[in-house]
Amino acid sequence: MTNRDNASASQGSGGSRIVAGARRTEWGEQGEVSPSELREMGYTDFEPFEPFVSTDLAVVVTEKYGKDPDTGEWGRTLVAHRVGCSQGDVLFSKGDLILELSPHFKREADQHSARIDANLHQFSPVEEAVENFINHSCDPSGRWDWSRLSSLHIPLIALRDIHEGDEITYNYLTTDEGRAPGEDVGEDDFVCACGAECCRKEIIGFRPLSPSEKKELEPIVSPYLRSILREQELGG
Ligand SMILES: [Zn+2]
Repeated sequence: MTNRDNASASQGSGGSRIVAGARRTEWGEQGEVSPSELREMGYTDFEPFEPFVSTDLAVVVTEKYGKDPDTGEWGRTLVAHRVGCSQGDVLFSKGDLILELSPHFKREADQHSARIDANLHQFSPVEEAVENFINHSCDPSGRWDWSRLSSLHIPLIALRDIHEGDEITYNYLTTDEGRAPGEDVGEDDFVCACGAECCRKEIIGFRPLSPSEKKELEPIVSPYLRSILREQELGG
C-alpha cells in the first residue's frame, strides 16, 4: 500500500503535476487468498465488494521526497484534486471517507502490501492503484478505520479538512510492525521527509517505539499491532 521509495529520500523544493486519476481495482491474481479461506480465517462477514475510491483524488509527481534511488525519478504522492477547484477549497471534511483498501489478500508481504494479521497481507492487484501512493506523515491527513474488519472493509477517514492539492497521508506506525527485538536495520526503515513540526525523522515501525509512544498510538493502530501491544504487556 505504501510508497516507501518516496518517503526514504530527502526533502526537495516542492512542485507537482498530475500524472494519473483515480483507478478502480480488478479481481483476481494468483496467490490470492480466496473469499472462503478468508471466512475460515475469521473474517466471517466477508463478501467480495468493489472498494469505494473517491473521484476527488490524483497521483502527482512531487519533489518533496526527492528522487527514487533506483530509478532516478521523482517520487509520487496522492493528493486531493477536483477539476475546477482551487487551493483553499475543501474536498474532504473531517470524518469523510476518502477511499477503501482493495479487498485482496495474500499470505506473504510485498513492497506495497499492508499487514492485516500475522499471515494476511492486503494488496492491490493494480500497480497504479491510488492506494499504492499514500505516503507517510507524522501529522497525517487520514487514518484507517478498523471497525469493519470482520468484513474486510478498511476505509481511510479524513482526520481534518483536506483542501485541493493537500496530500492524502497516514501514519505508517499504525500499520507497520517494524523490526523485531534484537534486529538491526529493518528493510522498511526510512528517514521521514513529511515536513511536519512533530516529525519523528526516523520511522522504524511500531515494535521499537517506547511504551508511552505505543500507548499514544493504540487507539488508531491496526488490531494486529494492538495484539502485539497486549502480548508485550502480558510479557512484562
Ligand atoms: Zn515525519
